[in-house]
Amino acid sequence: MNYKKININTALPAHPKARIMIVYTGGTFGMTHDENGVLVPFDFNHILEHLPTLRSLLLDITVIAFDQPIDSSNIAPVHWQTIGKIIFENYEDQDGFVVLHGTDTMAYTSSALGFMLQGLAKPVIFTGAQLPISEPRSDARENLITALEIASAKFKGKPIVPEVCIYFDYELIRGCRAKKVESMRFDAFQSENYPSLAKAGVKIDYAVEAIMPASESPLSMLSKFDTNVALIKLFPGIGANSIQAVLGTPGLKALVMETYGAGNAPSGEWFLAVLKKAIADNILIINISQCPGGMVTQGRYETSKTLEDIGVISGADMTTESAVTKLMLLLGEGGVEHARQWMGRSLAGELTEN
Ligand code: ASP
Repeated sequence: MNYKKININTALPAHPKARIMIVYTGGTFGMTHDENGVLVPFDFNHILEHLPTLRSLLLDITVIAFDQPIDSSNIAPVHWQTIGKIIFENYEDQDGFVVLHGTDTMAYTSSALGFMLQGLAKPVIFTGAQLPISEPRSDARENLITALEIASAKFKGKPIVPEVCIYFDYELIRGCRAKKVESMRFDAFQSENYPSLAKAGVKIDYAVEAIMPASESPLSMLSKFDTNVALIKLFPGIGANSIQAVLGTPGLKALVMETYGAGNAPSGEWFLAVLKKAIADNILIINISQCPGGMVTQGRYETSKTLEDIGVISGADMTTESAVTKLMLLLGEGGVEHARQWMGRSLAGELTEN
């Protein structure tokens, strides 16, 4: 995955307030309509034409852009590794990072980066836009300007938000608690089971008590992903054949199963038999609720107690995006037993531990 430094021609302010690196990966933010009306990425060198106020932030900004900016539907672990590498290699020189990313899979990438960057003590703020910056009514300008402010915000010389987050439509959300919930209106993201970390109005109000404290250990990076995972959503009437087909995928190591309510699933014998066989074959099954709020509590109902009894792992109040990316990283870094041990524990504030 290739990337390059881009000169955006902001003259360096005499006394920059902070040094911020923008990592431009693509997405609607930087798109413009071609002659056929189709949205295609524009040349990021021209950002100042769309956003002259960037200068007035008095920041020392460096931009690193993917050689080929992408629609985030094409994001894969190799892109997470590239974003992680850029942040890791420039960490000492920068006060914070803003990652411009398509909204479609932003919650996966922000979750993955939250797990990859161990010992984080500086802000990594993802943002993007629902309308390209070239459009008069675009949300790109506000999203980027405020993301830059948050990435550079300090209190008593220390970063206020030393976490991986998404800033979008006046709200700051922990990256591994975020979900894209809207494709037309500007409020594209929601925080699941965790309060917003900040709201932006006339001033930016930080929910200081909800923000993770800066790590005291040095930054390190985990970056091995194993993609032998699958995701299935239960629905009334789902057949044994489709669940079996997924669990029979060659090389499969783990399944994220989206269940009902507090983690409930059918209690029919065929269903439990299929899951039991997979567990006996050393496939991890993680229980994540289809409900955006609340948590999986295996054993609260009979229909989830059986899952607990056969060895299904509770995903507590994690998002699907967190569960999938965390599994891939844990499997990649340490294999099935390592993933079994750590799935239920909080690595980056993605779940509420009992
Ligand atoms: N398809 C675009 C993407 O995710 C949508 C967006 O950026 O809002 O890259």
